[in-house]
Amino acid sequence: MKEKLLELKAEAEKCKECELWKNRKKSVFDEGPSDAKVMLIGLAPGYWENEKGKPFVGAAGKLLDKLLSLAGLKREEVYITNVVKCYLPENKVTQEQVRICTSLYLDKQIELIKPKTILTLGNVATQYIFNKFKLALAPMSQIHGRIFFVSSLFTRIKIIPMYHPAAALRNPGLRNIVEEDWKNLKGRL
Ligand code: URA
Repeated sequence: MKEKLLELKAEAEKCKECELWKNRKKSVFDEGPSDAKVMLIGLAPGYWENEKGKPFVGAAGKLLDKLLSLAGLKREEVYITNVVKCYLPENKVTQEQVRICTSLYLDKQIELIKPKTILTLGNVATQYIFNKFKLALAPMSQIHGRIFFVSSLFTRIKIIPMYHPAAALRNPGLRNIVEEDWKNLKGRL
């Protein structure tokens, strides 16, 4: 399983399936153990992630570390990835980029990791995962921090939509709400 992930990661590093490869210094495939119970899905690498090749190492990542600790989680025990693996200069992604990148990588990562819980960070990841698992989407203001259960043949997965940490940085009014959401997850994953 680990080998398969490494193969996918190597493919992402040289991927040219959409035009985003032109902005890529380092693709950002994942971080964390392949047997993690909890998977976090963000949007895409930003400036610092593109430099370092790791997810959530910039300002949003610092906040994410704090939020994880509020939920009683260690960064080393969760599996972190993004919907899109290459730098998105303006943080704007097209439906086509999401379609291509998820079908090549994210869907396979979910199959391989088999997480018990998926935390979607922000609107794009939430929309993608809700559609994939046929959950009824609603605005983030209504669904943030709530646990949605989906069943497949062999497992039950918890899907939990969360505000993106960058949203709390942009909008300080959200900060308390975001922190409360993460605190409420403690012991429930
Ligand atoms: N924002 C994301 O959505 N993902 C990252 O890896 C970094 C910032």
